[in-house]
Amino acid sequence: MGQGRQGDLKMKHLASTRSPEEYSALIENLRDFIDTEVIPRESLSTAHDGAEVRRTSQALNDLATARGLSGPRARREDGGLELSWTECCAYLEQAGRSFLGPLALGCAPPTQPDVFALERLATPAQRERYLLPLLRGERASCFAMTEPSPGVGSDPRMLSATARRTADGWQIDGHKWFISGAMKADFAIVVARTESGPSWFLVDMDTPGFQIVRDIPTMEPFDIGGHAEILLQGCKVSADALIGEEGQGMAHSQLRLEGARLFHCMRYIGLASRAMSIAQDYALRRESQGVKLAEHQMVQAMVADAHIQLYASRQVVLDVARRLDEGDSIRHHSSMAKVFVSEAVYQVADSAVQICGALGISEDIPLSMILRMLRPFRIYDGASEVHRAAIARRALHHGLTP
Ligand SMILES: Cc1cc2nc3c(=O)[nH]c(=O)nc-3n(C[C@H](O)[C@H](O)[C@H](O)COP(=O)(O)OP(=O)(O)OC[C@H]3O[C@@H](n4cnc5c(N)ncnc54)[C@H](O)[C@@H]3O)c2cc1C
Repeated sequence: MGQGRQGDLKMKHLASTRSPEEYSALIENLRDFIDTEVIPRESLSTAHDGAEVRRTSQALNDLATARGLSGPRARREDGGLELSWTECCAYLEQAGRSFLGPLALGCAPPTQPDVFALERLATPAQRERYLLPLLRGERASCFAMTEPSPGVGSDPRMLSATARRTADGWQIDGHKWFISGAMKADFAIVVARTESGPSWFLVDMDTPGFQIVRDIPTMEPFDIGGHAEILLQGCKVSADALIGEEGQGMAHSQLRLEGARLFHCMRYIGLASRAMSIAQDYALRRESQGVKLAEHQMVQAMVADAHIQLYASRQVVLDVARRLDEGDSIRHHSSMAKVFVSEAVYQVADSAVQICGALGISEDIPLSMILRMLRPFRIYDGASEVHRAAIARRALHHGLTP
């Protein structure tokens, strides 16, 4: 069985804009692209060189576009594939097998969730100036909500950035950090508090008063846009910078996050399954006590548990994707999926490292980088503890049957 092949999700029961044959061909084409073009260009020795990673992903993006593989959610008229959420499951799993896949295919965060939100909220003028250039890859975005203490982190009520009305627009003041992609972004979606409550604003990065303080070093490899600390001091924007309705910023963030979470889950299932494929190959070659590692029952247990966790993760994500396609609220289910998948994929990658011994923690093979890529997912898009608290609150106070 080829790497990633078991992750296929059959589409025959699902509403689709394309035939099952067309969809299967697309996924096969993508699998081949990832195996033959993308993974071979992953250079572990330059994984921390943002400029190099950016150059490689741009070249890969040109190839992906030429093969008609790029932009899973974008509308066909905007040059995308217009996949349903359900169809995205297998697509994103394939894309996610490589660190560079989502970048190459125009579905890496923060672009994808920003597009998702702007497609629903942008005015025609905002669409022309921000959304369409974002879709075409001509401009890049970032999403700026999190703040250092005592500002907003896990608790949205702690938002401290402010936006005050001026004669012809808004003045934004605030301190943000861990803003992914900001080092290469052209504009930010900034969350700040107005008199009506949290609100969203489009802010060009070169607006006076908008200052990137630093790129915060993190454990993530293959990062092209950094995680910036940002200061907004007397940052003035025009009245039409407001996105959606004033005071609805938390609802907008929820909307953005639900889709973002699901995409992360799909991509990371791909990365974890690649990690276990590497470990399985090692277990079949390496010997201990006169037999292959694969003959040791405790190694077999790790392999079996990984398969169970990946199988369950795929089903959970597919279920949430179906709900999203059907227009149902996924608030509760996407929380459960995010906790389950973020913990399962990390456990799978950790077992893969364990099976490969010292080689597993080296940078000769991708496992340690996969582990570092997966670890932060238990914190961003809502920490596991915060989701568990919300799930329990809904269960206990809204009488949800288990
Ligand atoms: C790699 C990465 C990329 C990110 N990108 C962005 C971005 O692009 N834009 C952006 O705005 N933000 C971004 N963030 C920030 C992310 O959204 C926050 O880290 C997250 O919301 C948690 O906030 P915090 O880090 O301040 O944790 P804190 O709020 O300080 O919480 C710390 C820990 O306390 C525990 N905890 C907190 N609240 C509760 C509770 N109610 N019940 C039980 N336990 C609790 C949890 O274990 C939690 O992990 C990113 C973070 C990372 C790591």
